[in-house]
Amino acid sequence: MSARILDGQALAARLRAEIAPRAAEFSSRYGRPPGLAIVLVGQNPASEIYVRLKLKAGREAGFRADLERLPEDASLADVLALVERLNASAVYDGILVQAPLPKAVGEGAMSRVFDTISPHKDVDGVTPSSVGRLVQGRPLFVPCTPLGIIELLEREGVQLAGRRACVIGRSEIVGKPMALLLLQRDATVTVCHSKTPDLATVTREADILVAAVGRAGLVTRAFVKPGATVIDVGMNSITDPAIAAEWYHEGHPRLATFRKNGTLLVGDVHPSVADVAGAMTPVPGGVGPLTIAMLMANTLRAAQLAAVAGSW
Ligand code: NAP
Repeated sequence: MSARILDGQALAARLRAEIAPRAAEFSSRYGRPPGLAIVLVGQNPASEIYVRLKLKAGREAGFRADLERLPEDASLADVLALVERLNASAVYDGILVQAPLPKAVGEGAMSRVFDTISPHKDVDGVTPSSVGRLVQGRPLFVPCTPLGIIELLEREGVQLAGRRACVIGRSEIVGKPMALLLLQRDATVTVCHSKTPDLATVTREADILVAAVGRAGLVTRAFVKPGATVIDVGMNSITDPAIAAEWYHEGHPRLATFRKNGTLLVGDVHPSVADVAGAMTPVPGGVGPLTIAMLMANTLRAAQLAAVAGSW
């Protein structure tokens, strides 16, 4: 068996094509485009890439998408002051503060920053208000990665109600909201983490398996029930030629990419899982592009809600 590939890239392109005319309609109706502000503190190389992709997607969809930069040595007070300014702005409907913050900003800084974002502009779904609403089953803004995964599963016709789902990872931004969204769709959900003993025995029960860990190839064939749908959230880079050669057979285009660049973006799911799974997302081209498309969807929604409310 070879798993059906769930093409997140293609769905993300379709979602963005659906969003663009709605953004244009918003602009002509209200005389301004939906606005997204992204706050980037310091110079984390991975964050630079993610932020660039988000800004590009926003602008291509007809949004105003601006980067608000702070230096590596910014204080927590600097970050909070910037967020407060963006909260008060009539130009920005959505605010995203790119994680992680530099260590120098201080312990617990991310939570303090999330607590400060206006819930009406919380297009990343990170404020206590957004989280509480999601837990209560009346979400306003849902974190973009799990939201994109649900969109993919539903559009691909993967049945969730009555099925066993397992999420590996319990982060605030992916694992926990993913589990809640699956639960709200009547799946029976198990959440695993670093202290879960005999992980593969638990994950093999799942009809839908979501890996959100950040460990290259953690999920092997032994973790997967035959025919299961496997969603790979992980974004890891491998640099060891021996691992690359173990992952991809000679002549595989991904191995050629590794040899050219000396590094390769891979997920948490080993490619051999394709022999067992019924369907799976690739890395790259799976969950990543959907996350960005859902950020656009959330920002458009924030703009529309703000316009209807007049002013929050
Ligand atoms: P995170 O905050 O580091 O959380 C990782 C989770 O994995 C934790 O709950 C941790 O357990 C668990 N874990 C770690 N090692 C484990 C093991 N050996 N067995 C079982 N569970 C284990 O990470 P995150 O922010 O959720 O991100 C996870 C991955 O997804 C990363 O690779 C990240 O880059 C990627 N990501 C991708 C997108 C996208 O758009 N594609 C978006 C967000 C994140 P404990 O809680 O016990 O420590």
